[in-house]
Amino acid sequence: MRTLVIDHPLVTHKLTALRDSATDTATFRSLTAELVTLLAYEATREMRVQPCSVETPVATARGVKLARPVPLIVPVLRAGIGMLDGMTRLLPMADVGFVGLARDEESLVASTYANRLPTELAGRETFVLDPMLATGGTLATVISMLAARGAASVTAICLLAAPEGLSHLEKAFADGAEPQVRVVTAAVDERLNDRGYIVPGLGDAGDRLFGQI
Ligand code: URA
Repeated sequence: MRTLVIDHPLVTHKLTALRDSATDTATFRSLTAELVTLLAYEATREMRVQPCSVETPVATARGVKLARPVPLIVPVLRAGIGMLDGMTRLLPMADVGFVGLARDEESLVASTYANRLPTELAGRETFVLDPMLATGGTLATVISMLAARGAASVTAICLLAAPEGLSHLEKAFADGAEPQVRVVTAAVDERLNDRGYIVPGLGDAGDRLFGQI
């Protein structure tokens, strides 16, 4: 598994505003979308393309187009939904699947309550959207679901990651094994607290995006 921490002043600026507990829900949502688009730019750097040519008004130009099959984006319910707009802005042609996992607040173990994924993903590049990589349990489950369906690669886009979550994924998904797994994040924070929250983090991403319901 590879981890890419995006070191860019705009990314850090937007992340800092997201962390601020004084940032209201509307601003939090729009900043999340902007930040995801910036992370997605790096996360899609290795996407497969195929050569093509087009007729400009002047002459023939050689270029590329994205290879088929189209990528699959998988927001993890519920907080991942807040990242979908920012991602589809860059990949409007992508298919979108959904996975819902709930975390038991005592054991911190995730269980699946929704699964809307294609049964067959052979050769597909997949992008999982989950804002907070905390224990890594949720993401490991989703990556395994995609791997079982034959995904060629899985790139997880996370606003923030904890070292505990990254080492969980590193142990679960060995380098060089199929599918290729990558995590793209704006920062790796210090640690998890005893309630499984990332420190310093930004709090509960779902609540900050959608309110406490
Ligand atoms: N999920 C969140 O929303 N925040 C955290 O800090 C950890 C998990």
